[in-house]
Amino acid sequence: MTGAVVNNSAPLLEIDDLKVTFPVSHGIFGKRQFVAVRDVSFDVGEGETFGLVGESGSGKTTVGRAILRLVPMAAGNIRFDGTDMASFGRDTPLHYRRDVQVVFQDPRSSLNPRHRVSQILGQVVARHRHVAGRERDAIVTELLDSVQLSSFYAGRYPGELSGGQRQRVAIAHALATQPRLVICDEAVSALDVSTQSQILNLLEDLRGRFKLSYLFISHDLAVVRHLSQRIAVMYLGRVVETGPAESVYRNPQHPYTQMLLASVLDPDPAHKSVRRAQRRKIADRAEAPRDPAGLQGCPFQTRCHAVMDICRNEMPAHRARPEDGLLACHLVSPAPILNRTSEGVQ
Ligand code: SF4
Repeated sequence: MTGAVVNNSAPLLEIDDLKVTFPVSHGIFGKRQFVAVRDVSFDVGEGETFGLVGESGSGKTTVGRAILRLVPMAAGNIRFDGTDMASFGRDTPLHYRRDVQVVFQDPRSSLNPRHRVSQILGQVVARHRHVAGRERDAIVTELLDSVQLSSFYAGRYPGELSGGQRQRVAIAHALATQPRLVICDEAVSALDVSTQSQILNLLEDLRGRFKLSYLFISHDLAVVRHLSQRIAVMYLGRVVETGPAESVYRNPQHPYTQMLLASVLDPDPAHKSVRRAQRRKIADRAEAPRDPAGLQGCPFQTRCHAVMDICRNEMPAHRARPEDGLLACHLVSPAPILNRTSEGVQ
């Protein structure tokens, strides 16, 4: 279909029209539903890294939590390897917990501070691979080796490790189940720049070695571009632009994507003057509304340098992006509204 983002690999994860809501108190009227995510559709191919980008409050982490079944879906569906998650029932099956793992920004949330690294990794290996004793210990050593840590670290506690070493252990912890999809939720955001780049290179190496797929969630477009083949940009719970990472980075179409990229320091001299011009044109005009529930039309209208009358009345539908992908902005000349495809978003 025109404008669909080309994904050459078979989809491993498919998300259709995902909606997630949370109850919030509403003065004397009791509770109402806050819509954290709506109309979100994309897929992640076998062996692909798909980047999900947006500021804090964009809903990107909520999408990751819905995939992990940590928050309930209000509408839509999620399929993993062709199986609809709705068929799982109340408890998440062990095979899904094994196949889909997560690496969070702060590894302390997943690593028990009172356990040595050998115990932390050994428990997961024993539970998911049904081995014990020397066999389990050998796998723990292999896991540490795969994240470039020597066996010396098996005897350490998480609190004795640097931030980068702790994140390597968190990655080994995710790998211990032999997953197919790893959700990296701001996995390098807390690290200094040089450690960030080491961990990004490690993740890329592991993707090839273990045939992993990644959903890489970050507020930092530069970091996401480093790893991703395709990206989706989210604003206030909705995908506003999606396409091949290189194309979106080189030629951002949505005013929000342009604003995000204008703040990225780009070492490429060919991009520097473009970014400077974008910065002059795109002054961030306001804070994002905390809750767009009462806002009619485009959710980005309060910050957009190109806002038009129609933007205040009509929510922009997803249409073909001029190069490749999809875009939700009235600046795109009218084209048939696209239905959900397995390659893009609606
Ligand atoms: Fe700006 Fe209008 Fe496009 Fe929204 S729809 S991003 S307000 S031009």
